[in-house]
Amino acid sequence: MKVAVLGNGQLGAMLQEAGLRIGVDVTTLNIDGDTLPDNDTIITAEREHWPTNAFTQAIENHPNWLNKATFAALANRISQKKLLDQLGLATSPWLELNPSISQEAIHQKLGPDVFLKRASGGYDGYGQLRIKQATPTDLSAWQNDVIAEQAINFDGEVSIIGARNRQGETVFYRLTENRHTNGILIISLSQPARHAQLQAQAEQMLSTVMNALDYVGVMAMECFMVGGKLMVNEIAPRVHNSAHWTQAGASISQFELHLRAVCGLHLAQPVQTGSSMMVNLIGVPYNPDWLKHGAARLHWYGKDWRAGRKMGHLNFHHPDPAQLRQWLTELELPEQFQSAKEWALNNLG
Ligand code: ATP
Ligand code: MG
Ligand code: MG
Repeated sequence: MKVAVLGNGQLGAMLQEAGLRIGVDVTTLNIDGDTLPDNDTIITAEREHWPTNAFTQAIENHPNWLNKATFAALANRISQKKLLDQLGLATSPWLELNPSISQEAIHQKLGPDVFLKRASGGYDGYGQLRIKQATPTDLSAWQNDVIAEQAINFDGEVSIIGARNRQGETVFYRLTENRHTNGILIISLSQPARHAQLQAQAEQMLSTVMNALDYVGVMAMECFMVGGKLMVNEIAPRVHNSAHWTQAGASISQFELHLRAVCGLHLAQPVQTGSSMMVNLIGVPYNPDWLKHGAARLHWYGKDWRAGRKMGHLNFHHPDPAQLRQWLTELELPEQFQSAKEWALNNLG
C-alpha cells in the first residue's frame, strides 16, 4: 500500500511515522515540485493551499488524487461559508467584502466586533484583522478575497475530528477542548466525558459535511460553544493540530486513522480511555529538559526556528485528569503560555 502526501511539513512526517507502524509506505511531496507518484499510489494532502505549478497541476490530474471536490469547496473561506449556509450548519454571520462596502456597513450587518479573514492561505491566525465599530480602520488592504464575520462571544472552543471511507462509513473521536491565544492553538484537552451532551450534534454536523462532499479521510471541524449549542468556526480536510493528542490517548491516532480511511483498511472505532493533553511548542527553541519528564511525549518537527512558529508538541495521557493537572503545573513554559496553562488547569478534571 502506497500513499503520497502533498506537503512536507510536520503533518506529512507524522503520517509517515504512522504508516511505518501499520505497513503503509508513505512519502511526502514538496509542493514546489517533486517526483510524480505512480498510478498505484493514493495521493492525499496535509494542507489545503498550494501554488499552481506544473507539479501541482499534474497531482490534481492524477487518477488517485483524493478529495478534489472537497479542496475546491473548503480551501477558500468564501466557498466554505457558502457550503455551511447551504447545509444549514450554524456558523458566525458573515459577508464577502468588496471595495464599495464601508466599515460602517460591515458593522451595521455584523455588529460592533468583527473579524476580517483572508479567503485563502491563512492559518494560525495569520491573514486576520479584528475591527471594532468604535475604531475607524483603514480597510484598503482588505477589500478583495476577504470575508467579514461576527466576533462570537463563545463559552469555549471544541473540535470534532472524524474519518470517512469510500463506503461512507464514519468514526469519530470524542470532542476535544481547545485554547487559542492570538489565533493560535496552545493547548488541547481530551476528557471523554466532557461535553458528552454535544457529541451527537457534533458528529451529525461533521457527517453532514463529509457526506455532502463524499470526502475520504480525516476531517476536523472547529466549533464555538455558545449557550449549549455548536457553531462552526472552520473546517479542515486533513489531520489537524487539535487531534495530535490521539498519538498518546487513543488506540488509533488520527494519522493512522487517515491512512486507514484513504487506503480502504478497516476503519475501526478508536478506543479512548483516560484523559489527554497536548501542549503546542510555539516559537520556542529545542529544550532537552522536556525529555526530563517521563510522562511527556515529545514530537519535535525539526524546522528552523521562527517567532510564533509551531516547533513541536508535547502529549500527556493518564486515566486521572488530576495527574495531567499536576504534570502541567510542573511543566516550565514561557510567559506567553500562561493564560492557556491557567485555562487548562481550571478545565482538567
Ligand atoms: P488555523 O490554524 O486553525 O487554521 P486560522 O488562521 O484559520 O487558524 P481561525 O480558526 O479562523 O484561524 O481563528 C483562530 C482563532 O481566533 C479561533 O480559534 C478563535 O479563537 C478566534 N476566532 C476566529 N474567528 C472568531 C470569531 N468569529 N469570533 C470569535 N473568535 C474568533
Ligand atoms: Mg484555518
Ligand atoms: Mg482555526
